[in-house]
Amino acid sequence: MRLTIGMITISSLGLSSLTIWTIGKMQQILVDSHKHNIKEIAERFLDDFRIYSQMTPREIALQKASDNLATTDTFLWVKSSDNKTLITSTNKFSSLSTSQLPEIINGANVSVNNKVYKIYDHYFVFFRKSIKINNKILVTLFVAQDMTRDQAMFLMMVKSLSIINVLAVLGIVFIVLFYIKYSLQPLRQLNRMTEVISIKDLGQANLSIHKAPSEVKELAQTFSMMLSRLSQSWEQERQFVSNVSHELRTPLTIVHGYLQSVLRRQSNLTDMQREALETAASEAQNTINLLQDLLDLARADSGYLHLHIEICIINDLVTEVVEMAKNYSQRVITVEETNYPIKAKADYSRLKQVLLNLINNAVQYSEANTTITIKLSQQLEQATIQVCDQGYGIALQHQSRIFERFYRVDETRNRSTGGAGLGLSIVKTLVEGMHGSVTVRSRLSEGSVFTISLPVPGLRS
Ligand code: ADP
Repeated sequence: MRLTIGMITISSLGLSSLTIWTIGKMQQILVDSHKHNIKEIAERFLDDFRIYSQMTPREIALQKASDNLATTDTFLWVKSSDNKTLITSTNKFSSLSTSQLPEIINGANVSVNNKVYKIYDHYFVFFRKSIKINNKILVTLFVAQDMTRDQAMFLMMVKSLSIINVLAVLGIVFIVLFYIKYSLQPLRQLNRMTEVISIKDLGQANLSIHKAPSEVKELAQTFSMMLSRLSQSWEQERQFVSNVSHELRTPLTIVHGYLQSVLRRQSNLTDMQREALETAASEAQNTINLLQDLLDLARADSGYLHLHIEICIINDLVTEVVEMAKNYSQRVITVEETNYPIKAKADYSRLKQVLLNLINNAVQYSEANTTITIKLSQQLEQATIQVCDQGYGIALQHQSRIFERFYRVDETRNRSTGGAGLGLSIVKTLVEGMHGSVTVRSRLSEGSVFTISLPVPGLRS
């Protein structure tokens, strides 16, 4: 928009200045030609006067010389040195009488030889010259030329030029608008292309534009190179997380195993030693879980998380998971199931992991005396599993962000749960890997409902 306004302003200013200059120049040429004309008339008057004055008295010579040169547009008159009008030319067929002009010139008090004067709707150029004989000023000759017709033509041309100017400016506006729109097209195209690039297809992004100025092509190339560098560093980061998680998980699992066996086998531990070992074992377990989550996410990012999708009976899976959850949480978990088996296409063990994660969250973010409910249902094309709790709930502004990695709603309250904010992002990654979706509905202090939707097998399967 700014570019358009700038270009339109510059071009209309340029065009208007050119028009004004042309008009000024035309006016000057018009006046100059008339001035030149009346100067010549004055010269001829002198010659005529000299010839006539040899034959006739001075007054008659002046009259004859002026009548000779007078036309319908050219008026001459002569004044004596004491400013008295001696003679005026006889202008036949003229709409103005010569007798008016000396009056006009006296009254107008103009610096005669310069510009155009408008008198009684007529435009005049004037010229005055002193006639000297024997180096003595005798009389002053005045020549006036009526240039009204030329001026009218000039004004008509000014009008036409102004109209042409306005039309040209309008034309320029349209051309500039079209040109800018056309020139910005490749940039828009580039914008559209980059808009849809996600972290997953950073490496494959191809920003090639064919019909574009070389600058835009260069820009697209630079963008492509930047994206490939970004993709490389993203890949390196993923690799790093994956390697670190892998390298740390093995020794930690061994440490955890030893701690567990010491706790099981040694009966002569003091209370303090037992407590310290239990804390160490639980922290080691938390860290192992975190590393496993990081590994899963890194694998999912690089496309190496292979899911074994098969047709699962959801009812069985839910019963199994609920039994496991009841064992470690001692919470009331009820299942509202259908009286028919619900089938869905999923990876059995990964779906168990997903449900355990959600139930684990429901346990952690609700009071011990509240119930957790798992609801199963089947619509036409999808099976849904809902994990409902009556816990603290999640404020609306956090609901869209809790599936992000390392996002935790209330750091101080959640610290005790031992999570790192990866659970729900694992849930989302796994469910989406099974071509399903996960959503949340929640109200503060009332509870939350996490819904997993999975595709059901086709009728033939
Ligand atoms: P965390 O390891 O912290 O549990 P998650 O990714 O599982 O990480 O959850 C992210 C955040 O979402 C949690 O920190 C918690 O604040 C909120 N949250 C998850 N599930 C629930 C729930 N059932 N009720 C209330 N808040 C929840």
